[in-house]
Amino acid sequence: MNFIDLRSDTVTQPTENMRTAMVTSKVGDDVYKEDPTINKLERIAAELVGKEAALFVPSGTMGNLLAVMTHTQPGNEIILGANAHIFQYEVGGLAKIAGVQARTLDDSKGIFSAKDLKKSIREEDIHYPKTGLICLENTHNKAGGVAVPKTKIDEIAQIAKAENIPVHLDGARIFNAATELDIAIEELLAEVDTVMFCLSKGLSAPVGSILAGRSDFIERARKNRKMLGGGMRQAGFLAAAGLVAIEEMIERLKNDHQLAKKLARSINSKVVSLESVNSNFVILKVNQELYDTKELIEELAQQGIKISYFGPGLLRAVIHNDISNEDIDTVIDVFSKL
Ligand SMILES: *Cc1c(COP(=O)(O)O)cnc(C)c1O
Repeated sequence: MNFIDLRSDTVTQPTENMRTAMVTSKVGDDVYKEDPTINKLERIAAELVGKEAALFVPSGTMGNLLAVMTHTQPGNEIILGANAHIFQYEVGGLAKIAGVQARTLDDSKGIFSAKDLKKSIREEDIHYPKTGLICLENTHNKAGGVAVPKTKIDEIAQIAKAENIPVHLDGARIFNAATELDIAIEELLAEVDTVMFCLSKGLSAPVGSILAGRSDFIERARKNRKMLGGGMRQAGFLAAAGLVAIEEMIERLKNDHQLAKKLARSINSKVVSLESVNSNFVILKVNQELYDTKELIEELAQQGIKISYFGPGLLRAVIHNDISNEDIDTVIDVFSKL
């Protein structure tokens, strides 16, 4: 069965242009910095996000962990949202590998408040850990794909700067955020010190993420990447797909957002109602008098639609490059007949 797979944009298949680029690219030993395709990707990625330098990493999780490790010392405290991917879904790497503890704030709307942040930054006291880093996320995954506006990010970054604390932004879907906010990417990121973004999600590359920031920071992160076992050799074959992702797949994200809004507008069903729509995410609320959420997911799978569980009574549909306008019509139709 050919499923309409709305579980995540991580399921995207690499495009034909990516496959071609992957077999034809020149490669070398990247630990010696001799892979021309990786070098090119890192240069172009840094320029794209307006930072001095960038590092190609195997996953978003490793990129975020490297950011935490490289910005902090073991025993520091970092401030981040209670729903942040780094806190919720990265297997506790911040504690186990970076050796930091987390101070979590309410980010249910996508970002925590300046007021909460100010109360949470540690002053000097013999009992306290040092606040070593502040982490933000954009788009915010657990908040339902919310694109956090520049003004909110800059407000946090200003407080951080005054206290001499770096800011890392988990931008797994930063291009979805910039698309939704209709803002230039380097402008959106101007006030954060470092950013991680994924080539592998909506941009459809098979593997890889980028960590970007100042040159000296990236060189230290490069050494930490080696320690974690992320020093790859002829990985230019992977970076080649990443280059196509950056060059060809950012512009089209607006199509995904349009289809998300179409799905949200057209949901007409006794079984589900619209909870929220943001960027490429559509969150649906299940009528639990008619369906148990997990049973509904099973039923939809029977009908050729894969969709994610997003908490009790909630479903998440993510629109991406492998979802067509016709697919959305089919989904709307299936829901209306349940
Ligand atoms: C997917 C995701 C990550 C991690 O990326 P992986 O490549 O899956 O490790 C980090 N942050 C957010 C917000 C994500 O959605």
